Amino acid sequence: MARIVPRTIAEGPGERFAVWVQGCSIRCPGCFNPQFWGARGGTEQTVHDLLDAVPVDVEGVTLLGGEPFEQPGSLGVFAEQVRARGQSIMTFSGYTVAQLQSRARTDAGVARLLAATDLLVDGPFDRNQIDRERPWVGSRNQGFHALSSRYDALVNRWHESSDLLEVRVLSSGQVEINGWAETRDIEDLLHGLLLNGRIGTRTGGTANVLS
Ligand code: SF4
Repeated sequence: MARIVPRTIAEGPGERFAVWVQGCSIRCPGCFNPQFWGARGGTEQTVHDLLDAVPVDVEGVTLLGGEPFEQPGSLGVFAEQVRARGQSIMTFSGYTVAQLQSRARTDAGVARLLAATDLLVDGPFDRNQIDRERPWVGSRNQGFHALSSRYDALVNRWHESSDLLEVRVLSSGQVEINGWAETRDIEDLLHGLLLNGRIGTRTGGTANVLS
C-alpha cells in the first residue's frame, strides 16, 4: 500500500475508506501520483489487517493508485470481504473496461477484482482532456461503469454528486489534499491558506500535496 485515508468524502459516493496501491506501469503524462508508479516502495499489508482497518460505518472502500489491477489477486479477496460486510467497492483503473474484461479471461485475479467491484472508473488520465464537470474523474475519456446494481442510478445521474476537494492539515503541519483539481487551482488554494496563516510555519511554507 502506498497510502490510506480512513475516511474521505472526496473519493467516491458517500464516506469512504481509500487505499492507494503502490505500482503503476501505465505512467500517464501529467499523473498526479508519480510517486506511486514504482513497484518498489509502499508497505506490505495483509488482507486481514487491511480489512480490520476499514471502519464499519463507512459506505465503502475506494481502490486507486498506483494501478489496482496490477495486483488484483489480493485486492480481489479484500474487495470480496468488504462487500460481504455490506460495504461497496469503487475501483479506479488506468486500463479500459474492455482491456480488463479481455484480461479477465485468462487472469483469475483480474476476474475476481472486476467481479467484486461495484463501480469502476476506467481509462488512463489524459491531460489534454481535463474533465471539469464530473465528480472524481480527471479526464473526459475516463468512464463510470456500474458493475453491480448498487450504483446503477448514480452512473446515469453523476451530475447530482458533488466534486469535492478535501483539505487535511495534519498535526505535523503537513497538508494533504484528496479529490481531483488542476495543479494551478491547488496552488491558489494553498497560497490562500498560507496567506491566512492557516498552515503552520513548521512546514516552512511548503506542503505535501497528495491527490
Ligand atoms: S493509471 Fe493512474 S496512477 Fe497510473 S499513471 Fe495513469 S493516472 Fe497515474
